[in-house]
Amino acid sequence: MRVILLGPPGAGKGTQAAWIRDRFSIPQLSTGDMLRAAVANGTEVGRQAKAIMEAGKLVSDDVINAIVAERIDQPDCAGGFILDGFPRTTDQAEALDRMLAERDLRIDAVIEFQVDQAALVERISGRYACANCGAGYHDTFKKPKVPGVCDVCGSTEFVRRKDDNAETVAARLEAYDAQTAPLLPYYRQRGNLHTVDGMAPIGEVTAAIAAVLEPLATETASGPAGGSAEKAGSSGAGNA
Ligand code: ADP
Ligand code: ADP
Ligand code: ZN
Repeated sequence: MRVILLGPPGAGKGTQAAWIRDRFSIPQLSTGDMLRAAVANGTEVGRQAKAIMEAGKLVSDDVINAIVAERIDQPDCAGGFILDGFPRTTDQAEALDRMLAERDLRIDAVIEFQVDQAALVERISGRYACANCGAGYHDTFKKPKVPGVCDVCGSTEFVRRKDDNAETVAARLEAYDAQTAPLLPYYRQRGNLHTVDGMAPIGEVTAAIAAVLEPLATETASGPAGGSAEKAGSSGAGNA
């Protein structure tokens, strides 16, 4: 299963990618996470990307395309992957098409998250993550079950992104409208664009995505017969 998650910053892509990853056992390829790791590690890419990310602008297509091309050749991507935050420009979408064609692969679904602008700002301002395992949380919409303790790994350390502030958010939303939104007609034309209501509670968005992906998984299943039917019962949208 190969899936693209398309939507503005704060739309819920990372949140839903975690569910898709666990459900279908495929890695989440977040170009934002990869760039943040590069910045933290002080690599050449990180040095180039840091200021651009802090300004809420897009890192150059060449850099991003190279990162993704290398990543999808890793062994853990053999059974599929989730693209979260890539492609973000027409150039990146075309580069992805070439990468896939060279490898004789195709995208099974592009999922578009529709969310109101005002909600995006609220979501981004309240976003934080576990410093240890990366699990995502929100001050209002997704609190850990035990306050101050990560649901997934039990860590008590959390981090907020430097670019999740009001000024940078405005630039990021502008970049989305100008450079990424044109990808919607690009994929709609190919007939594999599925739109979900990203304003719904987290569990409902998960259910809508499950309704798109579960039938595709049975079609392309390579696992044991009945595997997806068996798991369908536990795909319930839990954590709204
Ligand atoms: P993206 O990856 O698209 O930038 P995230 O998945 O990080 O977005 O979500 C942004 C913030 O909004 C996070 O704090 C997350 O917990 C919260 N969030 C995600 N989906 C929803 C939703 N459907 N309703 C309310 N809050 C949500
Ligand atoms: P969000 O989903 O909240 O916008 P990301 O974590 O996807 O955040 O991206 C954070 C920043 O990393 C972006 O603002 C941009 O500077 C850079 N970035 C991530 N993915 C890409 C990409 N595909 N092309 C260009 N820049 C990117
Ligand atoms: Zn954790």
